[in-house]
Amino acid sequence: VDCVVCETDVNAAALAEYTRGAAFGTDSCAYVTVGTGIGAGYISHGSVLGWGGHPEFGHIRLPHDRVADPFPGCCPYHGDCLEGLASGEAMHRRWNRDPRLLPKQHHGWTLEVHYIALALANLTYTLTPQRIILGGGVGARLPRRQLRTAFAEMLAGYATSAQSAKQAVHYIARPHFRHSGLIGALMLARTLSSAD
Ligand SMILES: [Zn+2]
Repeated sequence: VDCVVCETDVNAAALAEYTRGAAFGTDSCAYVTVGTGIGAGYISHGSVLGWGGHPEFGHIRLPHDRVADPFPGCCPYHGDCLEGLASGEAMHRRWNRDPRLLPKQHHGWTLEVHYIALALANLTYTLTPQRIILGGGVGARLPRRQLRTAFAEMLAGYATSAQSAKQAVHYIARPHFRHSGLIGALMLARTLSSAD
């Protein structure tokens, strides 16, 4: 090995989905993972935002109604940032149960949809990706129809056509690859080795 490059898993995942996956054919996409933690990678015209680093999307601040949701959040730095409120870890602590064991009709999913829709609306207005790929263990379990409805309600009609309620079904997509991060890392390694 004569070259070692570090890249984050979300950037690699975004690259894989942009190049060959669910964002193929777009000019820009964001890959958001909601699992034990929350993170995002963003690609525009083939370039990763924050190369060698990544946006700290998991730590953005959201409105937190402490009456509706008294859980204080679990981020060691911020308490109730996005990750503190909506990561798998947060769900686990709030409901005292692994989110994988939370029934589909449990209120916890409605709350989760609310927070993730807020986060995706912020992402949309900040970076205007042409597509958002939502991955991660919790992301995969989120009720999509509810999420798209909540997301469209939050945009309240103020969006480009790609993000409109009608198009939201394509706008918030599932990952094409099961292991986007690994595939993206391989793509990156191939690109770098052929550039030598
Ligand atoms: Zn935080």
